Amino acid sequence: MHFELSADHQARKAFGIELGTTLNDSLAAAPHDRTWPHAAWTAAAKAGLTGLLIPESYGGQGGDALGAAATLEGLGYGCTDGGFCFALGAHLWGCAMPIALFGTEEQKAALLPGLCDGRMVGALAITEPEAGSDAFHLRTGAQPTAGGYLLRGHKTFITNGPIAGVTLVLASEEPARGAHGLAGFLLEHEAPGSTRRGPVAKMGLTTAQMGELLLKECFVPATRRLGDGRLGMAIFSHAMEWERGLILAPVVGAMQRQLERCIAYAQQRKQFGRPIGQFQLVATKLVDMHLRWEQARWALYRFAWLKQQGRSAFREAAIAKLTISEAWIASCQDAMQIHGGYGYLSETGLERELRDALAGRIYSGTSEMQRQVIAQWLGVG
Ligand SMILES: Cc1cc2nc3c(=O)[nH]c(=O)nc-3n(C[C@H](O)[C@H](O)[C@H](O)COP(=O)(O)OP(=O)(O)OC[C@H]3O[C@@H](n4cnc5c(N)ncnc54)[C@H](O)[C@@H]3O)c2cc1C
Repeated sequence: MHFELSADHQARKAFGIELGTTLNDSLAAAPHDRTWPHAAWTAAAKAGLTGLLIPESYGGQGGDALGAAATLEGLGYGCTDGGFCFALGAHLWGCAMPIALFGTEEQKAALLPGLCDGRMVGALAITEPEAGSDAFHLRTGAQPTAGGYLLRGHKTFITNGPIAGVTLVLASEEPARGAHGLAGFLLEHEAPGSTRRGPVAKMGLTTAQMGELLLKECFVPATRRLGDGRLGMAIFSHAMEWERGLILAPVVGAMQRQLERCIAYAQQRKQFGRPIGQFQLVATKLVDMHLRWEQARWALYRFAWLKQQGRSAFREAAIAKLTISEAWIASCQDAMQIHGGYGYLSETGLERELRDALAGRIYSGTSEMQRQVIAQWLGVG
């Protein structure tokens, strides 16, 4: 059993750090003016980030799960814009990866190159006004018609929705079959009968634009029903597995950056004639932050290692999602407290990290739902 990243994976983390750092300048304005940072996205795409794990034959980077985790961990260390990192995760795990896993040859050839090279951003639309945690009871319907399907419904909380070139929409073909009647549909930009709303204002992750989709007799050609056969439940499960397992990889890097920053501050800031780090009550916070970062890393790499072996990791995905998101919130609070009044000022960026972190308890299934998944594995719940 190895507890170290290989030299290649360490190089990938270093690459992610360098790239993330260079993106910061072009991202500086994005959270304030709420515009989509095309230049940063294009730069990330040029460096291969928008095609991580997508086969090279479709324009992606290929690579392995550990390498993707290391690159994204590095990105989160270097890039201080949590919203941008989150938008990238939604694009990769919510849209590009399901197409790579389930798409027909024609779908992969038609859509993946544009998703990988930065021309298109991907999104995943599952949530509806009446179907959040209870996603399998969604109401959006897909009715067969000549040459395709008519989609009717209302999708909400779609990360990347307002700017997406491709949105993977989960809809019900056969409501009587419940979750087994679901299918995925690849909606391209400006599909007739679809109306986008947004971006909606939200608490954090500001660079990641969120929107809604109204589908009124929206025609989707049969060639854009994802994959062959009744795959809706499998698409949902696998998208959630990858998303829950890797969406918080950049956060693990951000936790390391935040910890180093707090240590430096605690060594330099003096009160009562001593660096505040010498007070046990402050040092303990730093120790707790370190422990959380270690636990978050293990959870991330345990998931990535299993996927590297081609194994199923639904439980480990839930553990990674729950562990990292809750650890990040607790550490953001400690970081603010260590910085005292300065931590509360927007200019230090720590309050922004806390606002970003709070979303982690909700997206890709709430913390309660992750606990529910783990409880089922334990034979309870
Ligand atoms: C930043 C962000 C990005 C998002 N991006 C996307 C996206 O790209 N695509 C997409 O489709 N959706 C997205 N979502 C939506 C997200 O997946 C849902 O908000 C989430 O699944 C919860 O659904 P809900 O908001 O309807 O809450 P509800 O399901 O109504 O839950 C409300 C509360 O009840 C609790 N609860 C519900 N059922 C149970 C239960 N059985 N046991 C215990 N507690 C329960 C929940 O944990 C929560 O605390 C995003 C959300 C956020 C905040």
